[in-house]
Amino acid sequence: MIQFAERTKRLGTETAFLVLAKAKALEAQGKKIIHLEIGEPDFDTPVNIRQAAKKALDDGYTHYGPASGLPPLRQTIAEHIAATRGIKVAPDNVVVTPGGKPIMFFTIMACVNEGEEVIYPNPGFPIYESIIDFVGAKSVPLALKEKTGFRIDIDDLKRAITPKTRMLIINTPQNPTGGILTHEDLTQIAELAIKHDLVILSDEIYSQIVYDGFKHESIAALPGMQERTIILDGFSKTFAMTGWRLGYGVMPPHLAEMVTKLQINSTSCTASFSQIAGMEALKGPQDDVRKMVEEFRRRRDAIVEGLNQIPGFRCHKPLGAFYVFPNVEGTVKDARWLADYLMNEAGVACLSGTAFGRFGEGFLRFSYANSLENIKLALELIRAAIGKL
Ligand code: PLP
Repeated sequence: MIQFAERTKRLGTETAFLVLAKAKALEAQGKKIIHLEIGEPDFDTPVNIRQAAKKALDDGYTHYGPASGLPPLRQTIAEHIAATRGIKVAPDNVVVTPGGKPIMFFTIMACVNEGEEVIYPNPGFPIYESIIDFVGAKSVPLALKEKTGFRIDIDDLKRAITPKTRMLIINTPQNPTGGILTHEDLTQIAELAIKHDLVILSDEIYSQIVYDGFKHESIAALPGMQERTIILDGFSKTFAMTGWRLGYGVMPPHLAEMVTKLQINSTSCTASFSQIAGMEALKGPQDDVRKMVEEFRRRRDAIVEGLNQIPGFRCHKPLGAFYVFPNVEGTVKDARWLADYLMNEAGVACLSGTAFGRFGEGFLRFSYANSLENIKLALELIRAAIGKL
C-alpha cells in the first residue's frame, strides 16, 4: 500500500464536491434532488464565446502557449481590470491560469514562508485554509459575523495581526455569505496592510455579480495598495465558464514572474482555445452577463423571502455572488445534520455552514444558481421538512 507524505495530512477539501457526489448517488437510486449546493451558474456559456472557441480550434489554437498566458489575452485582461478597478495595469501584471483557483495556490506558495501567518475569512472559501496549512504556514481565521452582513470586523482584524502575519486574504463579494466589503472597510483594511506590511490576496471572482446598484471596488485601487495586492478574478462565474478552466491574477510584475515559474512547474499553461474564448468574453457583447445577473437578482429576492418565512430560519439579503447564508440556529443545533436531513427528507442539496469553517456553525449555504421554479419548489420542500422536526 502506497503511504502518503506527511504534508497531505494538512490538506483540506471543498465539501461542495463531496455533497454533489452524494446527491448524484441518491439520484442514481431514483430520488429527485434539487441542487442548491454547487457554486456554478446553471446558464450555458454565451453563444459568441462558444463560437470563438470553435473557431480557435479550427485556427490551430491546440498547442502550448506562453506560460503566463497568450499576450493578446493578457492585454485584454489588463485593459478590463484597469477599466473596472480604476488602476493602471499592464500585460506583465497578468498571469492567466486554469481557473482562478491556482492563483491562491501559486501566490501563497510564492509569498508565505513556513511558520508565517495568513489571516483569512471564516466562513470562507475552504481552499484558503487548506493551502495555508498545506504550505506549512499558520492559518488564522477571521470570523465574519451575521450582524454586520458578514463584513470584516476591523477590531477583530487588528487583534488577529501579529509580527508573523504575512498575508491577509479578503473576498468580496463573498462565498459563502454573499457579503461585500464597503469602501470604508477597504480603506481601514488598507491602512492596516500598509502599517503591518501585509500582502493582500483579494479574491474578486464575483466582482461582476452584484445587485441593487452596489459597485464593486478593489482594495488595489487605494493609495499604496496595488504594489502589495494580488487580484484574483476569472471567467468561471461571470460568463458561466466553470468547465473552461480560465482565470487570472493581477499582481506586481516580479511576483507575476514567480507565479509563472510555478505554473511552468505544474500546469505549463492554460488551454489555448479557452484563452481565445476568454478574449471574446471580455471584448464581445455583455448583454448575456447583464441578463444572468438580473436573473440571479430575481432568484435572490425569492430565496431570501422564502427562507425568512420558514420557522427557525433568518436570512440576510446579500449584495453579491449567488449564495445565501441563512442562520438556522432556531431549528437544530447541528448545521451538518440539518444539511443531511434536508437532502434525505426534502430532496434539497445544500451545504452546512461548517463546510466553510468553524464560524459557519449554525448556518446553511444555498446556491441560487438554479431556476426560479426549482428554488420555489425547494422552499416548499424545506418548509415541509422543517415542519416535521
Ligand atoms: N474564489 C471563490 C471565492 C470561489 O467561490 C471560487 C469557486 O467556487 C473560486 C475562487 C474558483 O474559481 P475557478 O473555478 O475559476 O477556479
